[in-house]
Amino acid sequence: MPLPHSLGAAARPRPVRTVEIFARAKLPSRFGDFEIVSFTDERGATLDDVAIVRGDVAGRESVPTRVHSECLTGDVFGSMRCDCREQLELALERFATEEAAVIIYMRQEGRGIGIAHKVRAYALQEQGLDTVEANIHLGFDSDLRDYGAAAAMLRALGVVSVGLHTNNLEKIAGLQKYGVPVTERISIQSVPGEHNERYLATKREKCGHLL
Ligand SMILES: [Zn+2]
Repeated sequence: MPLPHSLGAAARPRPVRTVEIFARAKLPSRFGDFEIVSFTDERGATLDDVAIVRGDVAGRESVPTRVHSECLTGDVFGSMRCDCREQLELALERFATEEAAVIIYMRQEGRGIGIAHKVRAYALQEQGLDTVEANIHLGFDSDLRDYGAAAAMLRALGVVSVGLHTNNLEKIAGLQKYGVPVTERISIQSVPGEHNERYLATKREKCGHLL
């Protein structure tokens, strides 16, 4: 199937890269005290991805880690079409009690297709397609996410290895592919509701998530 001509930059898989810390600042939150860290790539360009860091992660092993993909509708607007915000808040709650932990917040909206196409995918889902079918119908792979940048950010923070809070085995493989050892997987379960039941079922049945 040909790619839509409007395929945006957000939909292109990112190349592996090395990154450097650009800036870090305190981020007190209602969950606890964190830091927010931004990065530049090898050409000096700033990244949109950020890390939310608890404590001193440098030189540590098995750092509790969540790699979260941006979900504007869920994270910001509290959409009940998915469980992204619940997972993010659960990670923030858990990590606020840890000595050291990190959330990598990747701006890979809609599994990498971008917000404009994600809204189109939602419209298709209203016609009966599931999330995977909708992405494929739009000419995208079911999941375009790449974890090269996440791995590079973890390395720049000095994280030696991670204990990954995820239900998604592809995230583990994604980080390992780029040289980040994953010592442990910690499940991050949310409760299915009326609006996201099918979404969660698709994640389980078609995307290999352990739900
Ligand atoms: Zn979401």
